[in-house]
Amino acid sequence: MSKKSLLEAIQDRPLLGDGAMGTQLMLAGLEQGNCGEEWNLAHPEKVLGIQKRYADAGSDCILTNTFGGSRIMLNRHGNADNTAAVNRAGVEIVRRAFAAAGRDGYVIGDIGPFGGLMEPYGDFSEQQVRDAFAEQAKALVDAGADAIIIETQTSLEELGIGIDAAREAGCPCIIGSMAYDVTVDGSTFRTMMGIDPERAAEFMEERGAHVVALNCGTRMDMDRACEAVRRYKAVTGLPVMAQPNAGQPKLVDMKVCYDETPEEMVKGVVPLLDAGVNILGACCGSTPDHIRAFRKAMDQHLAAHV
Ligand SMILES: [Zn+2]
Repeated sequence: MSKKSLLEAIQDRPLLGDGAMGTQLMLAGLEQGNCGEEWNLAHPEKVLGIQKRYADAGSDCILTNTFGGSRIMLNRHGNADNTAAVNRAGVEIVRRAFAAAGRDGYVIGDIGPFGGLMEPYGDFSEQQVRDAFAEQAKALVDAGADAIIIETQTSLEELGIGIDAAREAGCPCIIGSMAYDVTVDGSTFRTMMGIDPERAAEFMEERGAHVVALNCGTRMDMDRACEAVRRYKAVTGLPVMAQPNAGQPKLVDMKVCYDETPEEMVKGVVPLLDAGVNILGACCGSTPDHIRAFRKAMDQHLAAHV
């Protein structure tokens, strides 16, 4: 049986994404500042354990553990030589997680920011960033990722390079995802580089992305995510994905904690579905319990509206 593509599937019904990876890796013993992506090779069973819990909780789509999997990011940990292997393993582990949970699902290859600034503001040439994203996107697509998300982006320049890389790698579904911050006066939100959702959506559509998205950010709760979805939908006909954080980070015993419970966060699910979100997941601080609550709310809502 040939499975529907991710883009076909979201024409039928909204899909559930996954929750946080970084904060889950810390819970599994990764120390702050260490290379979580290397665990795809060094501790695949731990990454698999986290992703299987998301699959068990009901995720239809799971992001690979490759947020910092570009050569530039891996090089900071002395792992640049493992770039292709880290990304290939990332795709394989998600496939194994779905298989172990006995459900079918979509693998979304994750490309996070390269973590620096490009010339003339920083030390990296545009070509270096192009090469790094191209290498990562190719490894993810060659390993069979169903989609690529270029996420937590704040500048259109870097996002555009990521979209180009995914397209050139032959990726069938390219998701561009911005990280917005609510402004100090609370009236609106934009990225650190001053990009608002309308501008981002128009840029992504023009550049060839298939899904416009938002994730992470500052004070971007479920209500704000809903507002972002509406603003995207007002300017583009492309499908929309949202992955808000589980509240705001707080320092507890020198550790970063997120404290929005599944019960609190799940209240935002139906409004997001009503706003037309096509893929709903969650970002920093969210857990398999959050995703399980989302699954239940989505299923109830969809059952009542079909
Ligand atoms: Zn986040």
